[in-house]
Amino acid sequence: EDIIKIENMTKVYANGEIQVKALKSIDLTIQKGEFVSIMGSSGSGKSTLMNILGCLDRPTEGHYYLEGIDVREKSDNELSAVRNKKIGFVFQSFNLISRTSALKNVELPMVYGRIDADERHERALELLRQVNLENRADHMPNELSGGQRQRVAIARALANQPQIILADEPTGNLDSESSVEIMDIFTKLNRENGNTVIIVTHERDIAEFTDRIITFRDGEVLTDERLRAKEAIP
Ligand code: ADP
Ligand code: ADP
Repeated sequence: EDIIKIENMTKVYANGEIQVKALKSIDLTIQKGEFVSIMGSSGSGKSTLMNILGCLDRPTEGHYYLEGIDVREKSDNELSAVRNKKIGFVFQSFNLISRTSALKNVELPMVYGRIDADERHERALELLRQVNLENRADHMPNELSGGQRQRVAIARALANQPQIILADEPTGNLDSESSVEIMDIFTKLNRENGNTVIIVTHERDIAEFTDRIITFRDGEVLTDERLRAKEAIP
């Protein structure tokens, strides 16, 4: 089942007279439950792709179908509803709220999701348990290591039970030990939770945790490499 289907998609940024073609007629499908990494040098179109996949932006031409829904035909409000329900975002710089605890950070997306306070609290604790941080629930972000902050951010990304997790350079600010921890968590979410996980990374070592590496160059797919067949996954 294709959870993501991109057809002949082009993205053009226009700044006055100057136009930049960030993505050039790309075709790409990702199946439900895949674990994928996106590589490519700076300026190759990775962030543009992630922004479109995450419904933060729209294609200029062509189509993006998310679970069969054509994203281009949706209004901004519909798009943000799709985004909040289906997608969890993880960023290189964690983007936690610094003045509130790990637990409250994880609860935040549920506040907008109209879940009552007790249930929010319980669910946030359970999510922190999933990333092995339940004993840090009351810590503030600045009392946590980088790897721990990123684990809080992953728990927050899971708050509304999204099918898809999009992570832009999730290990970019981490040492190699914490990076491995983070990739182990993504692996677990993919294998056990069944999440479709897509990460951008510059590091081949990190990409090799995933099952498929797609490399971009100048707004086009250069290579699409399968490291493991789905059947080979234990
Ligand atoms: P990457 O994430 O691989 O570094 P990007 O998707 O950020 O690549 O950028 C692809 C191309 O589009 C680059 O040439 C970049 O300068 C350009 N670009 C990205 N965002 C914008 C924007 N908002 N306005 C104009 N050009 C942009
Ligand atoms: P990355 O670190 O993923 O390569 P970039 O540094 O290319 O990302 O881009 C950071 C942000 O700036 C993105 O939101 C991107 O859309 C925007 N951006 C990139 N290039 C340009 C540009 N030429 N003009 C305007 N915005 C840009």
